Amino acid sequence: MGMGQQDLSSHYALLLGLNDDWKVEEVALDMENKKVRIRVGFCGRSLVCPCCGHSTSRADFAPERTWRHLDTMQFETELRARVPRADCGDCGVKTCEVPWAGKQSPFTWFFEAFAVQVLESAANVKAAAKVLGIGWDAAHRIMDRAVARGLAKRDVSKIRRTGIDEKSFLRGQDYVSTLCDLDGMRVIEVVRGRTEEDARRLFQALPREVRGEIEAVAMDMWPAFINAAGELLPGADIVFDRFHVSKHMGEAVDAVRRGEHKMLAKAGDSRLKGSRYFWLRREEGIAPEKREAFEALRDSDLRTARAWAIKELLREFWECRNEAFAETHFERWYGWAIRSRLAPVKKVARMLKRHLDGLLSYFRHWITNAATEGFNSRIQAIKAAARGFRNFEHYRIRILFFCGRLALRPDPTH
Ligand SMILES: [Zn+2]
Repeated sequence: MGMGQQDLSSHYALLLGLNDDWKVEEVALDMENKKVRIRVGFCGRSLVCPCCGHSTSRADFAPERTWRHLDTMQFETELRARVPRADCGDCGVKTCEVPWAGKQSPFTWFFEAFAVQVLESAANVKAAAKVLGIGWDAAHRIMDRAVARGLAKRDVSKIRRTGIDEKSFLRGQDYVSTLCDLDGMRVIEVVRGRTEEDARRLFQALPREVRGEIEAVAMDMWPAFINAAGELLPGADIVFDRFHVSKHMGEAVDAVRRGEHKMLAKAGDSRLKGSRYFWLRREEGIAPEKREAFEALRDSDLRTARAWAIKELLREFWECRNEAFAETHFERWYGWAIRSRLAPVKKVARMLKRHLDGLLSYFRHWITNAATEGFNSRIQAIKAAARGFRNFEHYRIRILFFCGRLALRPDPTH
């Protein structure tokens, strides 16, 4: 039961979404190479200049081009056509657009839409490229175009709460900074570096009128970010991120432990040996069989135990019901920390005191960059999948592709 050539032609015309200006002239099956070649011809009478949209006359036809289409019953399917060139009085001779593919794409819209779907669900770009039967570069260009389409259609007007954060890039020798929409849970932009100028570029990814509406921005106590936000987000409260605060405090505890362990070891006391992990965790996180050993250390008169207790008390700051309680709690905590005679702890205490406003503003906005943990792990995976990532732009495209919540699929009717 075969389809006649006529049926086959109209079948493909429908599948390709051709308009009246184009008709399928030939469908050739190459059984040996398992290929279907579809030749499409222009039969329209009027042309539109692709630059200015005015009706123009035809100059000539561009040389024949090929587009890869979705496979037909496992036959690799390609489309061939000579595209007319418009002779525009204002713009000159320009190659017209075609209804089945985007500008400069060697794939039809349908193929490109399918490819985006495969890329979204495949484990990595290499695996997706293999499924699609295309090269890595072609797959990357599909992502590139998908992100460009998504960015062009993206609505950022409702963003009120944001987060700015830095991540290492190229094995930690270098940094990138990301801006997130904490309400929409998406990455807005990625820039290279973490200087004030880099942060400024990052915020400028949002139009000025949107920036004026931003109410809060979560970040680490990092002067470059603080200054850039002060300048470009005039109405935003800075909220210092609780997880960065814990990180600083954890590092202080670790510094105390290292110093004390060195001292004790000289006197033959190895109590702190191998205990690093204990002190970094919260008490509930310690395995039951190790509890007893930990409790003995915790209740000792070790300096490290004192530093740990101060860290734990700081943790309770974040559980306060409101700003007033939090402020009282902080003052009590600060008094203890500053009299602790533990230099690393005192240093963090002073830093927190200096940034108290931004710590207390948490109780007005309740935001933290930890909400972005989900795509932080995704970004980690992206980085791991492309070890080395020499090319920042590729890295950026992938982060936006996977974490930008963009409308990535092409919409040929648009
Ligand atoms: Zn024109």
